[in-house]
Amino acid sequence: DFETTLKVIVVGNGKVGKTSMITRFAKGVFTDDYKKTLAVDFLEKRTTLKSTGEEITFLLWDTAGQEEYDAVTRAYYKGAGAAIVSFSTNDRNSFDAVERWHNKVAEECGPIAMALVQNKVDLLDQAEMSAGEVEGLARKLSLKLYRTCVKDNLNVSEVFEYLGDEFLRR
Ligand code: GDP
Repeated sequence: DFETTLKVIVVGNGKVGKTSMITRFAKGVFTDDYKKTLAVDFLEKRTTLKSTGEEITFLLWDTAGQEEYDAVTRAYYKGAGAAIVSFSTNDRNSFDAVERWHNKVAEECGPIAMALVQNKVDLLDQAEMSAGEVEGLARKLSLKLYRTCVKDNLNVSEVFEYLGDEFLRR
């Protein structure tokens, strides 16, 4: 029987939590030291989708420091079947950059499965955008919105479940 493999790219400005999210999902840990030791381009995570019981192997690609959207290479986008467009609750610039990141993914990858992720919801008291703005942007870009806290492991696996389901439905 064949095995489903899905390359997932995670885009967004620097420091929004992309490496943390990949590490959390693939390894189940949250650590600030991880980035320094990341020696590979991607992490692999095999999982069973709750919805259908189907087995799927995620290849989780980190931008590995290429955090200006013009600097991300073609190779990074190549073959991606799903994308996470991420920003951080306490970083207005990262929110304002979402549309550019989304457009870049659409340009490079076509109409692949995508989710909008607002990370660091533990910092809502320092939020630099309103809930209404976030919901408005998700609607405008037709993206499903997830609010995550990678630090406390809130809603992280849900994002990947969604992308896995969407990928298999297409
Ligand atoms: P990247 O540059 O987008 O890959 O971001 P990193 O994964 O390196 O994370 C940037 C910083 O944000 C690190 O210090 C993380 O520990 C921190 N961080 C990641 N997720 C969360 C979160 O949900 N809440 C808080 N408070 N900090 C987070």
